Amino acid sequence: MTKSVEQLARDNVRALTPYQSARRLGGNGDVWLNANEYPLPVPFELTQQTLNRYPECQPAQVIERYAAYSGLNKDQVLVSRGADESIELLIRTFCEPGKDKILFCPPTYGMYSVSAETIGVEYVTVPALDNWQPDIPAIASQLDGVKLVYLCSPNNPTGNIIDPDAVRQLLALTAGKALLVADEAYIDFCPEASLSGWLRDYPHLVILRTLSKAFALAGLRCGFTLANPQVITLLLKVIAPYPLSTPVADIAAQALSEQGLAVMRQQVATLNSTRQWLQQQLEQCPLAEQVYPGSANYLLVRFSDPQVFSTLWDQGIILRDQRKNPGLEGCLRISIGTRHECEVLVNALNTLSHSAEQA
Ligand SMILES: *Cc1c(COP(=O)(O)O)cnc(C)c1O
Repeated sequence: MTKSVEQLARDNVRALTPYQSARRLGGNGDVWLNANEYPLPVPFELTQQTLNRYPECQPAQVIERYAAYSGLNKDQVLVSRGADESIELLIRTFCEPGKDKILFCPPTYGMYSVSAETIGVEYVTVPALDNWQPDIPAIASQLDGVKLVYLCSPNNPTGNIIDPDAVRQLLALTAGKALLVADEAYIDFCPEASLSGWLRDYPHLVILRTLSKAFALAGLRCGFTLANPQVITLLLKVIAPYPLSTPVADIAAQALSEQGLAVMRQQVATLNSTRQWLQQQLEQCPLAEQVYPGSANYLLVRFSDPQVFSTLWDQGIILRDQRKNPGLEGCLRISIGTRHECEVLVNALNTLSHSAEQA
């Protein structure tokens, strides 16, 4: 029997809905507030010219500098092609397809399920509580066969930090059974909430980081895994031999220099203050039913008017639609852009609410 190419693909790949990245979803406009990117490019220069040679698997300077930045030892740091690669690497390292499972708490980041599905690993979902905190008793009852529990803090798209007491309880529940993976992609906006200091006490804690958000380097594709050396050693067995190209390592090292860190902290201060301003403005906007307080570079907002997303889209103001996610009816996620971009957004919303009043 002859088969089409489509029929030759693995069943779980044929069934897969790919991750709907903001880039794939498209849009036309000049105010891009849909991908949690930093709104302005940061200039870098390439200094490495040795492209005839293969790069180091784990570029020493990048590892050294990230270890210093996060207050850890070099053997507690792994660098990869974005945090996304690390999400997948953990599943490939710890989960047997068809047997082990991962667990996460929606609404949350979409790549945990996509990575599990492509690898053929089952996922268990335990919806977050109304305050977006994890439902500990429900998780406790679902841990059978689970090898990885993904927690996102601050959580994308809700913006909240996971309560440290809840993390402690989950670490107790998973000890000796599973790894707890804390996705800290946005932690540079609230560094005091990082769990990196907890690695000393918990051999099964893993932390994910990235240069894509606060460091303004989403296009670089560079992320980090922080964990105890036993975990890092296992991941190094599975990772590609050359996960970072030489130019990526070159720029990452510059971003993590003292000067690079100072620039990043300035970016964080600017975005945090713009976020506070935008939150106040949105709280006064009659169309915004609920503005969830956020600790990262975005805000989740529940709108009463179903037209907000498409009306702004038509005006070239592109937000991230969250309305299809369970628990997020009416919700849009708004990335913090420049102050000017946020003003354009607020003006458009105010105009829209006036015309809604008059109708
Ligand atoms: C953006 C994001 C990532 C991916 O980071 P990359 O380093 O760009 O792959 C991971 N987790 C969360 C929660 C994110 O929002």
